[in-house]
Amino acid sequence: MRAVALNHIDVWGWRGMAFAKRDLPISVGAEGVGEVVALGEGVTGFTTGHLAVPYGGLTCGTCKECLRGRDNLCENIKGIRGFHVDGFARGLINIPARLCVPVPAGVTAEDAACAGITFSTVQHMLFDNAQLEPGETVLVHAAGSGIGTVAVRMAKAIGCTVIGTVGDEFKAAKARAEGVDHVVNYNTDRFESVARRVTGKRGVDVVFEHVGAATWAGSLLSMKMGGRLVTCGSTSGVSAETNLMMIFQRQLRIQGSFGATLRNIAQGLEKMAQGVRPVLDTVLPMERFEEGLARLEARNVYGKIVIKL
Ligand SMILES: [Zn+2]
Repeated sequence: MRAVALNHIDVWGWRGMAFAKRDLPISVGAEGVGEVVALGEGVTGFTTGHLAVPYGGLTCGTCKECLRGRDNLCENIKGIRGFHVDGFARGLINIPARLCVPVPAGVTAEDAACAGITFSTVQHMLFDNAQLEPGETVLVHAAGSGIGTVAVRMAKAIGCTVIGTVGDEFKAAKARAEGVDHVVNYNTDRFESVARRVTGKRGVDVVFEHVGAATWAGSLLSMKMGGRLVTCGSTSGVSAETNLMMIFQRQLRIQGSFGATLRNIAQGLEKMAQGVRPVLDTVLPMERFEEGLARLEARNVYGKIVIKL
């Protein structure tokens, strides 16, 4: 293994979530990249000395969903690496070839470290689920977060107009530099008003949600008739009120999203090879893993923290 990237799932594990189901001590690292050092008999598609990204879910590979390529809906999942079972922050790992994706030439290990969860999750949310089209308007919450920064870059790469919310002026400046068309500091301004204003009161085509309770009502108000909202998180709280009349009268589509498929990892890596790179906040050595987690927990980060092994 060459590098791992940090995610909130690492923070949850660090803070004790799901201890009862975990076999401690555990090797951390839910998302990472390695270099192929040896291949099993009959394995094709990989070259020793080249980089590869392992899948974090212990899927069965034989259920209906696995066979359809919907890996994140596997009916017999045996846990998530780095959370329930040993993860990727270690020297060597023996992993089935079916759970590994080769990294295209020209992609660095630091960037590829963000493919297994971050890039693939955003790819799954925006394209499989929200079916984002070139030229549409998308509201990206927490535009400075790991997945937020990727959502901004993937949406901009296909010519979308991006409204991005951030929590402070430092992140607002960063987001403007990233090309976010309309940056909203959600502590000083109402993003739903901005969303309606910049779309001529129509509302946005797509909302990229992962904040939850704090933004839910505003996110629904920001949507156009028939708009799509995709959510993969609820960091500010899991319960929120929903005006059902708004859902049916305005024909809103709300889609939950969790994890990604192996195909999404390959698609994310392909985008990296084409120049859509992750925003790397910091690259730290393994000894500073905990410092990285603390910064992520405090949201004192813009983009991704990568740990070099
Ligand atoms: Zn399965």
